[in-house]
Amino acid sequence: MDFARRNLFSKAGLVGATALASYSQPSWAQSASKTPFEIPTTTIPIVGSTQVFPVRRIYCIGRNYEAHAREMGSDPTREPPFFFQKPTDAIQFVAPGQLVNHPYPTLTKNYHHEIELVAALSKGGRDIPVEKALEYVYGYAIGLDMTRRDLQRAMGNEKKPWEIGKSFDHSAPIGPIHTVEKFGHITQGAIWLKVNGVIKQEANLSQMIWSVAEQISKLSAAFEMMPGDIIYSGTPENVGPVVVGDTMEGHIDGLPNISLRVI
Ligand code: MN
Repeated sequence: MDFARRNLFSKAGLVGATALASYSQPSWAQSASKTPFEIPTTTIPIVGSTQVFPVRRIYCIGRNYEAHAREMGSDPTREPPFFFQKPTDAIQFVAPGQLVNHPYPTLTKNYHHEIELVAALSKGGRDIPVEKALEYVYGYAIGLDMTRRDLQRAMGNEKKPWEIGKSFDHSAPIGPIHTVEKFGHITQGAIWLKVNGVIKQEANLSQMIWSVAEQISKLSAAFEMMPGDIIYSGTPENVGPVVVGDTMEGHIDGLPNISLRVI
């Protein structure tokens, strides 16, 4: 009671002082940095660095390997790339060399793995030309675009947004960022995913329909890209279900494997 009253008085005093001190500022400017509660920022560890990568937005490209486009029922030769987003806090960091628990989400009976290369940007821009696009990439990581396939399909059939199928909690597992500076660009090499030790998805990154550079260029025509944006660059064919108790192991040449157990 006493505390509350003192707090009220000090706030009133602050408002008065503010009003006198900064006449030209709007009244909300001083209080804009104060929040009633904290929201954690989403970051991803950077290999060989004490710094962490702050995530601004998560973009994902759809149907970016020919055989996967076909298995999803589209013609890969005619379709321009399309993108969707996941919420930033959908990130689940997966430390290499550990078997990390991954929660089976609510509402679905058909929960699918999609192994993907992720590009992380440290520069922003609009209308970025393809030839310049890789200059915006800070590093790469291995990731999973986990999908509630039944819900995604149901919404698609009704011409409704995909969010409930794609953009839910923990739907974006990811390994650490490997910087271009130390590890170079990743444009080709094997990408695979095993479930319980058995290969399910297997392809080469060079089989992407739209390269990472092309994805950045296309995205930047629709959105202003910013430092901290990351791009899930699409999954090869043979996406499929996992159930509680399954173990997923993901691999991309040049990056350490990640392992998750569905719980
Ligand atoms: Mn995907």
